[in-house]
Formats: sequence, C-alpha cells, structure tokens
Amino acid sequence: MLANNLTQSSDHQDQRPPAAGPLLGASLEALTAWAQQHSQPAYRGKQLHQWIYQKGARSLTEISVLPKQWRQAVAHIPIGRSALHYRSEAPDGAVKFLLKLTDNQVIETVGIPTAKRLTVCVSSQVGCPMACNFCATGKGGFIRNLQTHEIVDQVLTVQEDFQRRVSHIVFMGMGEPLLNPDSVIAAIHCLNQDVGISQRSITLSTVGIPGRIQQLAAHHLQVTLAVSLHASNQTQREQLIPSARPYRIEALLDECRDYVRLTGRRVTFEYILLAGLNDCPEHAAELASHLRGFQSHINLIPYNPIAEADYKRPSYKRIRAFVQQLETRNIAVSVRYSRGLDKEAACGQLRASVADQNSPAH
Ligand code: SAH
Repeated sequence: MLANNLTQSSDHQDQRPPAAGPLLGASLEALTAWAQQHSQPAYRGKQLHQWIYQKGARSLTEISVLPKQWRQAVAHIPIGRSALHYRSEAPDGAVKFLLKLTDNQVIETVGIPTAKRLTVCVSSQVGCPMACNFCATGKGGFIRNLQTHEIVDQVLTVQEDFQRRVSHIVFMGMGEPLLNPDSVIAAIHCLNQDVGISQRSITLSTVGIPGRIQQLAAHHLQVTLAVSLHASNQTQREQLIPSARPYRIEALLDECRDYVRLTGRRVTFEYILLAGLNDCPEHAAELASHLRGFQSHINLIPYNPIAEADYKRPSYKRIRAFVQQLETRNIAVSVRYSRGLDKEAACGQLRASVADQNSPAH
C-alpha cells in the first residue's frame, strides 16, 4: 500500500505519495510521478488514472494503452481491487456485497439506490473494537484497519455493479472511522478528487473518540459529520456504548460544537430508538435540551434487530411521538429506516451469516 502520511491538512491531496504498492488511492500527480520513475512519459499517469478510476482496471496487464513490454515489467504491482465474495440483492433494490481482501478477511459494503441517488455504505475496519451493545459488527470483535485502497475499492465496486455513478457515501459500514483516520481521510480525498464525488455528499459517522473530532476538524473537509449519540444522558449512553465511559457526553458535544465552529458544517446526531429504553418523552426533552441553539440535526434510527441482542424496535406510533417531542422544541429531526435485506439488514449481520454457511460468490 502507499505509505500514508496524510495527517496534516486537507490541502495536501496532491502530495498523496508516489505509489510503491497498490495504485488505487494514488492521485493523478502520484501516478504521473510513478510512471516517470519508470522512465515513462508523463501522460502515462493520466492513462493509469483513467483506467484505474473510470474503466475499472483490475490489473496493469489489462491496461492496453500501455506499452506491452512495460506492462509485463510492472505486472506484479497490484492495482488493489478486492474480490467479490458474495452479492445479495434486497427486494427494495439495495445490494449487499461481501468483499474478500488479499489476506482473506471479508468486509461488507452496501449500495443503496433511489431515483436520484446511489449511496454506498462503506466499511473502514475489518470488525470493530467499540463493542456497542446493539451492533452486530461490534459483537464480532476487531481484526484490523482497512487501507485506503480497500475503502476506495468498495465505492468502485458498487459503481461498476450498478453501472451508475455513485452520488453519496456514508462511512456507516463496519468499523469506527476515527480509529483509522489516516486511511479514511486519504480515501475521502481520493473519492473526491479521483472518483469525482463531492465532499458534501460524504458522511463520516463516528461513535466519538476523545480528541478525534477536533483532529478531523483541522483537516477542514466539507464532509458531513454524523455522531452516534444514541442516548440523552451519560448513564444511559454508557449502558449502550461501553467505550463512552471515559468520554462524557458533555465533552463529546463540546467537541461537536467546535467542529461546527471550525468547519461551518452542521453536525448530524444519530439516535437509535430502542423500545422502552431511550424512546420516552423525557429522553426527547433531555436530548432537545442538549441541542438547543446547536447547528445540528437529529437522525432517528429505529433499531434493527440483531440475533445477539434482545432490544426491540419501538412501534411506529411511539417513533412519531418521539419525533413530535423534538419538533415542538424546534429541533430538526428525521427518521432513517434501514433499507436492505430483512434478516441481514443490520451492519455486520450478512458477514456473520455468510461466514456460517461459507457461501461462495454468486
Ligand atoms: N462506528 C461508526 C460507524 C458505523 S455504525 C458509528 O458508530 O457511528 C453506523 C450507524 O449504525 C451508527 O449510528 C450505529 O450506531 C448504527 N447501528 C449499529 N447497529 C445498529 C442496529 N442494530 N440498528 C440500528 N442502527 C445500528
């Protein structure tokens, strides 16, 4: 993989370093420099860029515009595309992909089409160490961070499968993106500059890692920050999210306020609705009191049942009542119903069930 030293500012996109491993993730400038290092003319960089990001080349040998002799000489250098392991389409058109990485680890990616949008839900880690009580991925533990090319690949895979341009990206698949910030930020730059997706159409969802939202703000990206709040007070948040123990909800909200101040971007708060647990009128009131005057938006997520937990999704009536409690307090709110496969809708579930069956791609 490309050595990755993108920890400074967002303006350093063009300095994404020259490729020494998988080429996916490299900028036009880096590909050009790489070609020149191999005594090729500068325009080879543009050809590589076009074949990797637009034509979906999976190996250098298939890039027919390159001289045959050079193609053979560099044939061993991987582009960095993952293999399709399993594909499953829901009646509503959402498609779940399991992608196999070079070390045989498997990750989930989902393509979610609507008339106007094609959204990709991407993973940032294999597994996740955060162990949130309601999350299927968290139940499986953490294996490793994804590299930049493994993130970008997910978007290209969906784009190719749907034969349609991806318009939106949400970092809401497996993993905690702010535990893998260098690869995630490099991937955001690549998806923006090389794949052509607007930063404003990219959402990074985090459960909150102390200090990391501030670090993200320093990159001055135009992405939307979504924060998995899920509770209206510290006690309840700790019950749902063990990693919240050392990180008080007030400190998290302060970091979010700084994010708004530094980036001028509104923050989205995600709030999973669990029947009888955090869906009472007093929770809505408490939530509203935290967010009064805060340039933010609440996204309510009715719980998606998973096999390993016995939470329940509230009734439609109760969800409406929660929305109204927030609306009467002038809080911007929307409800997000998960799309996808019924029994496998929650992130991490498909991976677990396919691992059980050991099914091949089809
Ligand atoms: N680690 C990041 C992103 C991955 S999860 C984060 O925590 O934000 C993306 C979103 O899906 C999070 O808001 C997460 O809390 C939510 N989620 C996880 N399991 C869920 C479930 N069973 N039902 C509904 N939402 C769930």
